[in-house]
Amino acid sequence: MESTHKFSMEYEAVIGLETHIQLNTQTKIFCSCKADSWYDGPNTNICPVCCGMPGVLPVLNKRAVEKGVVLARAMNADIQPVSFFDRKNYFYPDLPKGYQITQYDRSLAKGGYMDVPQADGSYRRVTIWKLHLEEDAGKTRNEMGQRMIDFNRCGVPLIEMVTGPDLHSADEAANYLTRLRQLLRWIGVSEADMEKGHLRCDANVSLRHKGETILNTKTEIKNVNSIEAVRTAIETEIIRQTRDYENGQRIEAWTLEWDEDSQSLKKMRSKETEADYRYFREPDLLPVFMDDAWKDAILVDFPELPLARRDRFISEYGLPEYDADILTSERSLSDYFMAAVQAYPGDVKRVSNWLMNDVLRMLKESGKNASELVLKPAYLAEIIKLVDANTINTNTGKDLLIKVNETGKSPAEIVQAEGLAKVSDDSAIRQVAEQVIAESPKEVGAYKSGKLGLMGFFVGQVMKKMGGKADAQLARTALEEMLK
Ligand SMILES: [Zn+2]
Repeated sequence: MESTHKFSMEYEAVIGLETHIQLNTQTKIFCSCKADSWYDGPNTNICPVCCGMPGVLPVLNKRAVEKGVVLARAMNADIQPVSFFDRKNYFYPDLPKGYQITQYDRSLAKGGYMDVPQADGSYRRVTIWKLHLEEDAGKTRNEMGQRMIDFNRCGVPLIEMVTGPDLHSADEAANYLTRLRQLLRWIGVSEADMEKGHLRCDANVSLRHKGETILNTKTEIKNVNSIEAVRTAIETEIIRQTRDYENGQRIEAWTLEWDEDSQSLKKMRSKETEADYRYFREPDLLPVFMDDAWKDAILVDFPELPLARRDRFISEYGLPEYDADILTSERSLSDYFMAAVQAYPGDVKRVSNWLMNDVLRMLKESGKNASELVLKPAYLAEIIKLVDANTINTNTGKDLLIKVNETGKSPAEIVQAEGLAKVSDDSAIRQVAEQVIAESPKEVGAYKSGKLGLMGFFVGQVMKKMGGKADAQLARTALEEMLK
């Protein structure tokens, strides 16, 4: 039996992710300074409160709590009727107060999970162990042998969200983060841009033999600022731990830093334990009382979530998974699609095709999102109907998308004004076909001696002469008859 050979057993990775999500409120969590300073110079959005001057008091930003509640609901967590803020004490130059205001044992929400679809069609349930509000710290930077400090980020509202050790490969971890980013943007609580630090991720990684349920010593990977980097860093760490186990070495609880330039992990420090932080209740803030009236008001517009909508597009509309994934990648695109489907009585897949091929290209080229298009969903539906009814051909339909988007006029109006309706008049087409044959003696000779592929050329010539409006099928039939 293979399993009796200790070193030939297969390993399984056990991964948990710790994310910090920057909420997209206008102001910071405890003062009225501007929250997002990505485009601002150092120390431009600061005040005595976020810099921790003596004698000032924090005032809780309600919007930060409300966004936290929306996220908690989206993660299926239990929103708590009472929660508290606590001080987490540590000394670091970018933390002017000497403590961070966070939530410790009585946080905004408890539990929660996300069911993440996997490549093989199954779902992986990722449980949530921690979901709380806190303030961010500042940033330090080393420049020309000096340590520079920027306090702009002090007091920026964050949600810290920690998953259980439920992920089992670098791909699963990357997949979860992609779905989380999609969700955060969908519910409008964060810009979730990893490159700008709106979504930060640390990964805890350990290994065990397949089939075991124990948790072995884990390492923590920090400082990864893209989903691709998370994937590569975890992969690198799994390979290192596997090698160390097979060499009989022990894994130690290191904190590792991902170095993007060298694509490698570097040891930072041995991990601090929780007791080092000497948590206690924040005496300057009241508990947060989340009564039903406030909760209901926050959740009154709670939307259908992307994964639920994706599943509904598959089951209700019969769309392939591929279409459903693209059409729920972003909320305004998804809403646009649903509005177009409502306005179009035919096959939903046809709307999906037009949207994914042509409307998506228009969006990419203009850098806009679907809600900003002048081409409204009802106009898209109207254009597809005109093509279905043979009033215009497909190419005219595609041109029409652009014309409607440029002018804001209705498709029917443009078809009328520009005479775009397809010419299905047999005698008109025959007349042009005769002309084409008369003008192309060489091609006619070649066709008659067997080069039947030239039919495409003749049809093309007829279409060209008729401004693309001829019914191509009628033209082909007429030409074939004449060239017999
Ligand atoms: Zn401030």
